[in-house]
Order: sequence, then C-alpha cells, then structure tokens
Amino acid sequence: MASTPSSPASGYRGRLAPSPTGYLHVGHARTFWTAFQRAREAGGTLVMRMEDLDSDRSRSTFSEAAMEDLRWLGIRWQEGPDKGGPHAPYVQSKRRSIYLAAWRKLVNRGCLFACRCSRKDIDSALAAPHERVQAASSGSKLDILDDEPMYPGTCRHLTAHAPQLPGPTSVDVDTPEGTNWRFRVRDGEVIEFVDRNLGPQRFVAGVDFGDFVIWRRDGGPSYQLACSVDDATMRITEVVRGADLLKSTARQILLNRALGFQNPAWYHCRLVVDNHGRRLAKRHDALSLRALRQRGLTPMNILAAELPVEV
Ligand SMILES: [Zn+2]
Repeated sequence: MASTPSSPASGYRGRLAPSPTGYLHVGHARTFWTAFQRAREAGGTLVMRMEDLDSDRSRSTFSEAAMEDLRWLGIRWQEGPDKGGPHAPYVQSKRRSIYLAAWRKLVNRGCLFACRCSRKDIDSALAAPHERVQAASSGSKLDILDDEPMYPGTCRHLTAHAPQLPGPTSVDVDTPEGTNWRFRVRDGEVIEFVDRNLGPQRFVAGVDFGDFVIWRRDGGPSYQLACSVDDATMRITEVVRGADLLKSTARQILLNRALGFQNPAWYHCRLVVDNHGRRLAKRHDALSLRALRQRGLTPMNILAAELPVEV
C-alpha cells in the first residue's frame, strides 16, 4: 500500500511539539508515541512543530536530534519543518508575525495589561516563595513555564483600558517590546474541561493561576500565546501532551475564547518519574533516548518498559 501522507480520510489533526533545549528522554518518547498512535488510529494527520522560543537554550542540533530520535522510535508525521505543509513555517521562531497579530488583537480587545514587575518583584510579593524555588530547581523548561508564579496583581490597574475608545488611546501600544504583557484573568472564574485521558478537570482563575504572561519584555511571545495560536492556525483537533501542562490548558482555554478560537480536545499523558518520584527532566541524561540507544536498547524495549508514572 502506498504510504503517501497527503489527504487522509479523517479530519483528525494531532501534533508533536518538542522543545529543542536538550535530548528527548523516555518520558517524551511515551507521550509522542501516544500522539502518534492516536493520530494513526483516527486515520488523521500528525504535525511536527518545533517549539524553539527559548532562544537562549534552543539549539538546531537538538531539533535535528529530536526528529531523528522520533523517527528511530518509528514515529512518522506528515507536516513539519522537514516536510513542509499548508501551515508552514513549523518552527515557532519563524512565526513571530503571527503571534504579534494575536497580541495586537488581545490588546485591542482589552484583555492585556502592561506589567513592569521584574521576576524579583513578583517573587518577593508572593507569600509562598518555596513554590517558585521548586519550579526553578526542577530544571525543566515546561515546568517553569507552567508553574509561573502567581501574579500578585501589582500592575493590574495601572493600564486603564478603554476598548470603546479606538485610535489615539492605543498610540503607545504599537509594539509589545519594552514591557511584559499579561492576560487579565477574571478572579474566581471556573475553567472546566474533560480530558480524554485524565477525565474531568477544574481550575479556578486567581486561585490556581493568576494573570499570565503573554509577551515578555525580552522580546518574545510566551509559551501560552504561541501554543494557542499555533494549535488554532494549524487546525489541531486534539492535543496530546504531558500532564505537567494541565494548568496551561486552563489558561489556553481563556486565551482561545479571547481570540475567538475553537478549543481542540485534550489528552494529557501521565508523566514518567524517576526512582525518587521526580519528573524526568533534561538532567536525566542516562534516560535520554540517545543514551539508551547507545546501550543497545530497541524502540520496543523503551516503549514496552514498565516505568513509574506520577499519580
Ligand atoms: Zn506587574
């Protein structure tokens, strides 16, 4: 049978979204394999998207290695940086103009405010600084992004917004540069969704997370913005990813609503942990797919192994 990837019968569209900040480990392998299986079982399309917004730590060698490792596992995708496709570019660092348009839309709709706090300001305003320390010491980029500290609301009221007054009032917001931009959440709003793997989920804005970053002063869109925009514009119908991003999903539901995007379905995978019950991170070099291959393990060994997961 021909293995041509184009025009699958089903409308299912999934994605693989690695961050090229290190080598993939067995936890990634599990999640990406699940994404691959679900797309395949649905007769759908799988998209490879490289999430390289962390410019300090992203390396093109890690992008290449991620795709190579996933191919080695037997995972195939139909659109991506290596294949092209109707929603190119598939590399986030090349999609800045798309994120910028979304930022502008959010500003015009009165969803954002400029925040001048430094990370230090926020940390010192927080009642529970140990949470921050925990997030920072976990070593994983996604942990840090997902566990962004609860914003104390310092600048919330500094940027009075008047959406009914177009024109001159927005003269100073032609560009997001030079300040952080946050999405203002409605305190107490309950965000619920049914995860296709983990079941009903419930988060409360202002309790589980605060006003979250949309654009960083140092010049880039946040993970939340880029992810929502990409999933919508790439017409993703189901997002398969790690359970560390459940809280991000709640934020992205708010963002999708503000941007007029339809929500995809979500399927969050339980996270593989090490013998001490800690989530795997890039520090677990011995559990990288590279290292395991070098030790002679096969894809089957890796995918069939019984690994402890976070409950
Ligand atoms: Zn602030």
